[in-house]
Amino acid sequence: MVPGMGDEAGVEQGPEAGPWRATREAGLDRWRGFAPRASRYAALRNRVEPGHPHVSRLSPWVRSRLVTTEELVGTLLSTQRFGAVEKLLQELVWRDYWKGWLEWRPGVWLAYQDALRRVLREGPASVLDRADAVMAGRGGVAVMDRFARELMETGYLHNHARMWWAGYWCHVERLPWVLGADFFYRHLLDADPASNTLGWRWVAGLQTRGKAYLPRRSNLERYGAPEWLSDTRGIERLDDHVVTACPLESEAPAARVRWASLPEVPEVTPGRWGLWVHGEDLTPELSGLGRFRPGLMVTVMDARVLQGHRPSALRLDWMKEGLADARRRAAAHWGCPALQVEAGTEGFPEALARLGSAHGLEGWVAMRPSVGPLGDAVEGIEHALARAGLGMKWCRRRWDEAMWAHAHAGFFPFWEKVAPRLAEAARGSATQGDLGL
Ligand SMILES: Cc1cc2nc3c(=O)[nH]c(=O)nc-3n(C[C@H](O)[C@H](O)[C@H](O)COP(=O)(O)OP(=O)(O)OC[C@H]3O[C@@H](n4cnc5c(N)ncnc54)[C@H](O)[C@@H]3O)c2cc1C
Repeated sequence: MVPGMGDEAGVEQGPEAGPWRATREAGLDRWRGFAPRASRYAALRNRVEPGHPHVSRLSPWVRSRLVTTEELVGTLLSTQRFGAVEKLLQELVWRDYWKGWLEWRPGVWLAYQDALRRVLREGPASVLDRADAVMAGRGGVAVMDRFARELMETGYLHNHARMWWAGYWCHVERLPWVLGADFFYRHLLDADPASNTLGWRWVAGLQTRGKAYLPRRSNLERYGAPEWLSDTRGIERLDDHVVTACPLESEAPAARVRWASLPEVPEVTPGRWGLWVHGEDLTPELSGLGRFRPGLMVTVMDARVLQGHRPSALRLDWMKEGLADARRRAAAHWGCPALQVEAGTEGFPEALARLGSAHGLEGWVAMRPSVGPLGDAVEGIEHALARAGLGMKWCRRRWDEAMWAHAHAGFFPFWEKVAPRLAEAARGSATQGDLGL
């Protein structure tokens, strides 16, 4: 039970829910269970039912790259006809599309952070109190209160439930979208700066101007589990003719920034550089970096960064377990020491600098974090290392470079470019033995 939720009924998880373990093996197991159902995904994916049997529930693993999109795409394409799984392929690369889109427009992330700080600091007490009640599952629309509890108790919500709940927040409760996005970001195990911020902007009507997502009772009744709708308290607030789009403040179009290409693997002296592995990519051994020879591998938990974003206890445990899993695999793959650093008051840029100097390294190699809290730390890391006389070499997967190149406009132009290349890009990265397909 989530602390502070009193005697509210817990959220049933259904027969397929199973544990959420932040290990690569658990993610692969989940995929093995779901893959045989992939061809039914297009027809059934919008149904929101106990246990969520019609979707993969893989997003927490995909988000931290305990399992990568390219290997999922690779196994799908080598076991099924393209047409039979096209919808799932599209959804899988939506994540890459959103990440690329935000990389082209980092100002959207900064504006969201600014707006959030402003609302938290200056928002009227009546708005903040109402937001607290809705987040705590005490908004009075029973089905929406249930989704709020599911999010807090499991760290997951089905895509359609995210749309309904975010639409209810923006257009029925008429609360600031940034507060709702922050609630999701703190609780989702798959919390992602791109998918979450842009998903919320899309529901609010900011991402595609003039198009907001409205939660309608008829849609909930068509796709929602009847047992979740049997408690009809407050449902009349979602009646189709009642819900209208909340007017938006005008927003300047975000400036487009050309991100710089990065190598897949750095050219550095073998054994003299350390590898920093973080929650944006927990399987670097399955990227070009697999060929690199680090002298040392570290993962870092940064108390200050974490405090700033206030993740839930579930999400914190997920992050810790994921980092531990990455260290285990790294030690086996590279045969070098694999350490965990708890950066307390000093902050993790300084922790990396201190550790690098103590181990006589020339510098650190890492996947460059994309736009988001870790991306915000890039400059600070580079400065801290430079002050200690250490270098920082950033890398990026070829997959990201290939996908992001087409993510500057709408999804469908992106898909037209990407679809024909998927089979080619995925060839070689599908580890079918690993995935048991
Ligand atoms: C308001 C809102 C907030 C969201 N916040 C996040 C978030 O923080 N992190 C996140 O990963 N997704 C987010 N999404 C997208 C989507 O809801 C989740 O990726 C999806 O529900 C994950 O469940 P699944 O793994 O069962 O998905 P499946 O339907 O099984 O899809 C397979 C994979 O495809 C990707 N995917 C599917 N749909 C989307 C989508 N619409 N956008 C991006 N990727 C997608 C995910 O990696 C997912 O694991 C958000 C959507 C909305 C509307």
